[in-house]
Amino acid sequence: MRTISRRLMMSLLAALPCLGRKRNPVVAPDQTDQTHYDTIVIGAGAAGLAAARTLQDANHSVLLLEARDRIGGRVNTNYDFAAHPVESGAEYLPGENIITWDWVRRYRLATLPVFARYRHQFMYVNQELLPFRRWSTIPGMEILELMDDSPIDELIAAWIDAGKPDISLAQFLSLHKVELSADVRRIVDHFLSGSYAANLEQLGVYGLVELTYAGDGDRYFRISKGYSHLLEQFADGLHIRYATPVTRIQWSSSGIQIHTETDTIYTAQQIVITLPLALLQENAVEFAPKLPEDKLNAIQGLGTGHITKLMLKFDQPFWSKDLESCLTTLDTQLWWRPGWKRHNETPVLTAFTGATGADQLGSLGREGAIQAGLQDLEQMFEMPLADRLIDALFVDWQADPYARMAYSYVPVNGVGLRSQLAQPVDQVLFFAGEATHPTRAATVHGALESGMRAAHEILSFSTSRAARGLHKNQVPG
Ligand SMILES: Cc1cc2nc3c(=O)[nH]c(=O)nc-3n(C[C@H](O)[C@H](O)[C@H](O)COP(=O)(O)OP(=O)(O)OC[C@H]3O[C@@H](n4cnc5c(N)ncnc54)[C@H](O)[C@@H]3O)c2cc1C
Repeated sequence: MRTISRRLMMSLLAALPCLGRKRNPVVAPDQTDQTHYDTIVIGAGAAGLAAARTLQDANHSVLLLEARDRIGGRVNTNYDFAAHPVESGAEYLPGENIITWDWVRRYRLATLPVFARYRHQFMYVNQELLPFRRWSTIPGMEILELMDDSPIDELIAAWIDAGKPDISLAQFLSLHKVELSADVRRIVDHFLSGSYAANLEQLGVYGLVELTYAGDGDRYFRISKGYSHLLEQFADGLHIRYATPVTRIQWSSSGIQIHTETDTIYTAQQIVITLPLALLQENAVEFAPKLPEDKLNAIQGLGTGHITKLMLKFDQPFWSKDLESCLTTLDTQLWWRPGWKRHNETPVLTAFTGATGADQLGSLGREGAIQAGLQDLEQMFEMPLADRLIDALFVDWQADPYARMAYSYVPVNGVGLRSQLAQPVDQVLFFAGEATHPTRAATVHGALESGMRAAHEILSFSTSRAARGLHKNQVPG
C-alpha cells in the first residue's frame, strides 16, 4: 500500500509551461424539446460525461441534465485570474497509467510532467521555512516518507492482516505509541487533510487500504490548457441541458420521471445519478419512493471531505525560485505555485486547505480568508505583503450549492460502502461519481471509470431486457 506517499505527492505538485491563455469554451446546449430518452444522466461532471459518452457511442439515446451553466462539476479551470490556467477544483493527473490518458492522447493535449524530484518541496515547521534536505531529517517526518511503502503503511497492513478492528488513524497512531512533536503531528494532519480532505480523527485505517490506486503509476501531470479543456473535448456532441437542476426523481421498476427547477418533466427508462455524496446526504433531490435502506446506509456511512482553495496574486514573486510547494504548521496548511515553471508564470500562490482547516478558512469568508492567508505568508517569509497583493480567488467547495464538498473519504467502518453506493436499484437507478469507486475514489479518473461502469451496467441490462422482449418505454404515471 502506497496511499499516503502517493497522496502527498499529489498535494505537493507544481506545474510546467502552458500553452497560454484560453477562454473556457461552452459546449452547445441541447436545442430540441425532446423529453424522453433511454437514459438520462444527472450531472455533467467527469462521471456523468463518461456515462453519457459510453452510452451515446453505443447508440443509446441519452441526455445529461446539469444544474450549472457549464460542464465539469468539481473540475473547473479559471482562465481569467492569471496568464495561465488556474484550477479551482481538480488539478493533477495522478499517474501515467490512469484512464484519463486515453482521452489526453485522443485529443492530442499537451501535459506538464510535475513532481519528478522532491528537492522543490519546502516545509514551514518549527517556525522555519526549510528546504527538503533539512525538513526530511526531522524526527517523526518519516511518517510522510516521500518514497513508496512508508512505515505507517506497513503498520496498518499488519494491523489489518491480523484482523484487528477498524479504528481512526488518530487512535491507530496513539495505540502504536507513535510519538510526534506537536509541530510534526500538525504537519501530518495537514498533509492528510489535503490529501484525503479528512483529518487524523476522521479517517478509518481500513478505508486507507481500500483506496489503493493500484497500477495508476507514480508520475504526475497537469493538462497544459487546463482540466476543463479536456472535459470540453470529451463532452463534444453530447446532449446537455444546462441550468436544469433536478429536484425530484419518481421511480419504479418500469421507468423514471424527473422533475426539474425549470418545471419540465423528463422521462427515461433508466437514469444515472452522479450527484455529489454531500447532496445525496442532504436529500437535495427527493426520491419517490425513498431509496432502499442499504443505499441510504451507504450514503450516510461515507464521509464528505472538505477543501477550500485560496489563490493570491502578487506584484512580484517573493519566494525562492526553487520553491514549488510548501506544507506548513500554519492554518493555511499547504501552499503551491500553480504556474511553477510555466514560461508565463503569474506570481500566484495557492493555499490548499482541507478538513477542519477548510471549514475554518471557509467560515472567514473571502476577505477574512485573504487576510488569514496573507498573515500566514508574512510569517513564513518574514516580510509585509499586504501592499503587494494584486488579486485573490477564493473557492469554498462546501459552499457550492451543486457540490457542498470536495471529495469523499471512508471513515471508520465505512469499508465496502462505496461498492454498496454503486449498486443499481431495480435496474432503473444507476449510480456513478467519484464516491462510488471503491479503489480510485476522490479523483477525476475514478469518476470517469465509475461513469463507464454504470453505462456498461445499463448496456448489459438493456441487452438482457431486449432478449426477454420487454417494452422499454414504460414510465410511471
Ligand atoms: C479542490 C479539489 C481538488 C481536487 N484535486 C484533484 C486532483 O488533483 N486530481 C484528481 O484526479 N481529482 C481531484 N479532485 C477530485 C475530482 O475533482 C472529483 O473526484 C471529480 O471531479 C468528481 O467528479 P464527479 O462526476 O463524481 O462529480 P462532480 O464533478 O461534482 O459532478 C456532479 C455534477 O452534478 C451536478 N449537479 C449537482 N446537483 C445537481 C442537480 N440537482 N441537478 C442536476 N445536476 C446537478 C453538478 O453541477 C456537477 O456538474 C479534486 C477535487 C477538488 C474539489
